[in-house]
Amino acid sequence: MQTLVRSVACGAPLALLLCVAGCSEEPAPSPAPKPTPVAEWPLPDAASETALLDAAFRVDVSRIDVVFDLFPADARVLAQARVAFRMRPGQTLPVFHFEPARSAPDVALRLDGESLDLGSERDVRFFTYHGSGQTSLELERALGGGDHMLEAGGSFALADDGRRFFTDVDDVLGNGNESLFPTLNTPQELARHVLVFRVHGTEPYLLVGSGWASERDDADAQELVLDTERDVASYTVMFHLAPAASHALAQRRIAGVDVRVLSPNGGVAADQAFALLDPWLPELQAALGPFPMPRGLSVALTQRGGGMEYFGATTTSLDALRHEVFHMYFGCSTIARSYRDSWWDEAADMWYDLSSRSAVTPIAEDFRSGIVNNRSAIAKGFDVRAYSDGAAVFEAIAADLGGRQRMVQFLRHLHERRLFDPFTTWQLADEIQAWSGISFHERFRSWLYQGPEAAATGSSRWDWLHRVDTRLPDARR
Ligand SMILES: [Zn+2]
Repeated sequence: MQTLVRSVACGAPLALLLCVAGCSEEPAPSPAPKPTPVAEWPLPDAASETALLDAAFRVDVSRIDVVFDLFPADARVLAQARVAFRMRPGQTLPVFHFEPARSAPDVALRLDGESLDLGSERDVRFFTYHGSGQTSLELERALGGGDHMLEAGGSFALADDGRRFFTDVDDVLGNGNESLFPTLNTPQELARHVLVFRVHGTEPYLLVGSGWASERDDADAQELVLDTERDVASYTVMFHLAPAASHALAQRRIAGVDVRVLSPNGGVAADQAFALLDPWLPELQAALGPFPMPRGLSVALTQRGGGMEYFGATTTSLDALRHEVFHMYFGCSTIARSYRDSWWDEAADMWYDLSSRSAVTPIAEDFRSGIVNNRSAIAKGFDVRAYSDGAAVFEAIAADLGGRQRMVQFLRHLHERRLFDPFTTWQLADEIQAWSGISFHERFRSWLYQGPEAAATGSSRWDWLHRVDTRLPDARR
């Protein structure tokens, strides 16, 4: 990738340079990555949570465009990203999350047309806020108001045995798509994402993912485009590309929702997914309102394990399919403001299922936990007690509201009112009170803002739900 680095310095558009430099050539394998050391910084001083989020995240991303050039025969991907952003009020030095900047040897960055040297602290600094679990990249250029552009280019290995290329987000751990392109990995940061996949080779590929998927004519490559068409959180953007020779893409319209199921040949059949969705999509719409994603639902079907929800999409087994599709309402369109608040989308999901078969009891009045406050508002991941204790908290709310039907009515109201308007646990209590007149603030304070340390990840009986297993049907267990 010497060509890329040298070419970027001359100031021509990065996209063009990458194509000239690499798209028609075989990309060379990169040497083993050597991650740059990361300094730990104290949390920024801030008078409020809003001020803390602004001081930590600093930028407001409006749009992320990424072109991925896939070379399946060489197991390589070239990526070029353009991130349009503005500074948040009062902020000057931009911050992004972008794992390859620290570990990939050939990453090149440009800020507003100027090349930055990843090896120089005069240009960039890597750090992590104490307790955040997230590596941040600070760009050492003081920026004013107005529009700015970060460009990034580089390559990485296509590691999958089946020559697939797909997102692998884990929201429990808080690992999002910063592994693939520069972004802010926090639920509150919403941006439009347009991803272009150029597949080089004779083998055609199939694509499912978040938003509108289309194919463009291109002489040099099979070009597939995914557009979220609206602002969404980066960690909720899914794509799954797979060779057409080994996969099938089935489509059906269920209760007005366009459903696409991508499944590997010889494994779980798409019809089994459709059979589960046939009653589930009408039920969810009757209970919670119209399906939130205008382009419908894309499913990358796996053979076993759990699933992961994304905006209008999921990578899931049959066992977790209903759970993940519920998340289209809570998690992917009604959104937590920070990762620690996302206990409530998991709780809503689990509660809806468990309460339908009387399998949940209200949380005990003397329950104490630090599910929310044991984590900073800028930490990634959430407490897995959301699945069981969180569902029990929701059952206690349901009991005060007048039962399951009233609680479902409230969830429908909440979804409609706060669509793509991220909110905190405390604001959830405000919403409950505004709708019902009942205050849960003090109980939330006891149940969620004090008590034992956060449960270790992996201690929930519902753990399997978020363990995605993307192995192909013929893979050995
Ligand atoms: Zn879930």
